[in-house]
Amino acid sequence: MMLFDLTGRVAVVTGGNGGIGLGMATGLAAAGAHLVLAARDAGKGEAAVAGLAAAGATAAFLSLDVADERSCRAMIEATLARFGRLDILVNNAGTSVRKPPESYTAAEWRTVLDTNLTGALFCSQAAHPAMKQAGGGKIINIGSMYSIFGTSYGAAYAASKGALVQLTKSLAIAWAKDNIQVNAVLPGWIDTELTQGARRHVPDLHDRVLDRTPAGRWGIPEDLAGIAVFLAAPASDFVTGAAIPVDGGYASMGV
Ligand code: NDP
Repeated sequence: MMLFDLTGRVAVVTGGNGGIGLGMATGLAAAGAHLVLAARDAGKGEAAVAGLAAAGATAAFLSLDVADERSCRAMIEATLARFGRLDILVNNAGTSVRKPPESYTAAEWRTVLDTNLTGALFCSQAAHPAMKQAGGGKIINIGSMYSIFGTSYGAAYAASKGALVQLTKSLAIAWAKDNIQVNAVLPGWIDTELTQGARRHVPDLHDRVLDRTPAGRWGIPEDLAGIAVFLAAPASDFVTGAAIPVDGGYASMGV
C-alpha cells in the first residue's frame, strides 16, 4: 500500500477557490487526487482551477453556498456526475463577523454558524451515501485555534469552530462502521484574505501573533497541504475523531 498516494481519488474542497482551501487542494492534487473546488466566487474558482491544471492536475470549479442545504446536495451530486466517485471531502468554507457578543444580530450569528458548522454537516450528509457505497472515505473539517480558545470579538466564530470539533467526533463514531474517517485540522494564524481583514481591524494583531507563535512566523496556506494529504490518504486509516493543530506551536504556548 502506498501510504500517501491519492492517484485517482476525487476530493471536494469547500472554499477551495483561495486561502487555506486552495493550499490544501494543491497538496491533494500533487498526491494524485482529482479536485473539485466549491465556493461562491466563480471568478476566483476558475483562476484556482487554471492554476491547478497548469501544474498538471485535473480540477473543476462548482458553485456552492454551504449555508444552503440544497446547494450542498447539488454540489455533491454534480461531483458524482462529473467524476463518478467521491473519496475525500474537506469542509473548509468559513466566515467570521467580528464584534462584541452583546451586539450580534440574529442574522449575523446564523450566518457564521450556518457557514462554519451547519454547512459542514450538510456537505458531510450529502457525501456519506457515496462514500459508504464505495467502502470508505475521508472527511476533513477545518477548525481553528478558536476551537480551543475563546475570543471577545468573535463569539459566533469560536462557538462554530468549537462545535465543529464535537461534530467531527460524532461523525467519526457514527461512520467508523462505514470505514469513513472524520478528523479536524486546527490551523494557527495563516496569512489569507480572512486574516488580512482581521489585521485591518486590529492593528497590533500581526505582532501579537508573531510574539505568541513559537515558530516565529505566520503560517501560509501551503503549510496545510501536508496534513490534508495525510488525513486523506491510507496513512491515516486508523486516525479518526482527532483534532490536530497545525499552528507553529501556538496552542502549546503558555504565558
Ligand atoms: P478565505 O477567506 O481565504 O477563505 C474562505 C473560503 O470560504 C473562501 O474561499 C470563500 O469562498 C469560502 N466561503 C465563505 N462562505 C462560503 C459559503 N457560504 N459557501 C461556500 N463557500 C464559502 O479564508 P481562509 O483560507 O483563512 O479560511 C479557510 C478556513 O480556514 C475557514 O474555515 C477559516 O475559518 C479557517 N481558518 C483560518 C485561519 C487563518 O488564520 N486564516 C485560522 C484557522 C482557521 P467564496 O467567498 O467564493 O464563497
